[in-house]
Amino acid sequence: MPATLPILGQAPAVEEDPLDLMDEIERLKKEKDATILAHFYVDGDIQDVADFTGDSLKLARDATKVTTSTIVFSGVHFMAETAKMLSPTKRVLLPDMLAGCSLADSCQPEELAKFQQKLRAEGRDFETVAYINTSAAVKSLVDWIVTSGNAREIIDRVPAGKEILFVPDQHLGRYLSEVSGRKMILWPGACMVHEMFSIQDMLRAKRNNPGSRIIAHPECPVNILEHADFIGGTEAMRKHVASIAEPQTFLVATEANMIHPLQKIAPQHNYVPIPGLMESSGETCACNRCPHMARNTLQKVRDCLRDGRPEIEWNPCFDKARAVVEKSLLK
Ligand code: SF4
Repeated sequence: MPATLPILGQAPAVEEDPLDLMDEIERLKKEKDATILAHFYVDGDIQDVADFTGDSLKLARDATKVTTSTIVFSGVHFMAETAKMLSPTKRVLLPDMLAGCSLADSCQPEELAKFQQKLRAEGRDFETVAYINTSAAVKSLVDWIVTSGNAREIIDRVPAGKEILFVPDQHLGRYLSEVSGRKMILWPGACMVHEMFSIQDMLRAKRNNPGSRIIAHPECPVNILEHADFIGGTEAMRKHVASIAEPQTFLVATEANMIHPLQKIAPQHNYVPIPGLMESSGETCACNRCPHMARNTLQKVRDCLRDGRPEIEWNPCFDKARAVVEKSLLK
């Protein structure tokens, strides 16, 4: 049966007008005393109704400035957890509880604790540095948290005589090891979106757009980064394109929704998303969307505001994780 036909006995799904939904969300925000935080990787319409937009570092800091009783975190689970641990008295809602992160999932707390134990038993003197894309349980096991925006600065705070165990993103870890000159033990994790970039398509896009410049997120594999004209997290990308007045074409190697904030801050440029490689079929696609971020829709934002759920519940490991997040990101 064609997918477009309704299943017998079931009412067809009603498409709601995005503009009506945006109006409803604005009304509900006031009525429910709520603030919306949205990551740069969610749909542009959601970014437009949000009170704060940004990367993980900025949003973690913004969460501490919220004055309303409710935070709606339009992003993925570990981000909403971070907001909750930094604002324990607030109600933190996540529009879809299944919005996870392949990178966070690649480092489970039990496996990390076991590996740290093994290194200690071998007499290795190390500190563990975790990328913010980790669960609260993992954050509670580490010494430092970094984001792509502050990683270099935090790495420099680890005493020179110590080894660094970097989790979970091997590509970001390799890049940081290169720029800081510090030796690192790398956890073999990766982000499914940044791993899917196709080098051939990127080079083809470069050929088809003479004079274009490649901007890449440090979560990309080394074969992408070595062709990049600029490497940086999402906030750094925004600053970079805004600093160039002359119109240019940028080939963007990160989640495709990032083009929305880039266009907003520097509309004089042309932005081309670098195609991804669909693992299953080996074909390339014109966009690179994170399926977890894509679980956030205007409808779900409206529903969670209206219903006051799903909510992030407090977990005892949040106390320890919060101390690490605070010393790394807020001080
Ligand atoms: S883009 Fe990658 S790192 Fe970011 S939420 Fe999606 S899977 Fe996780």
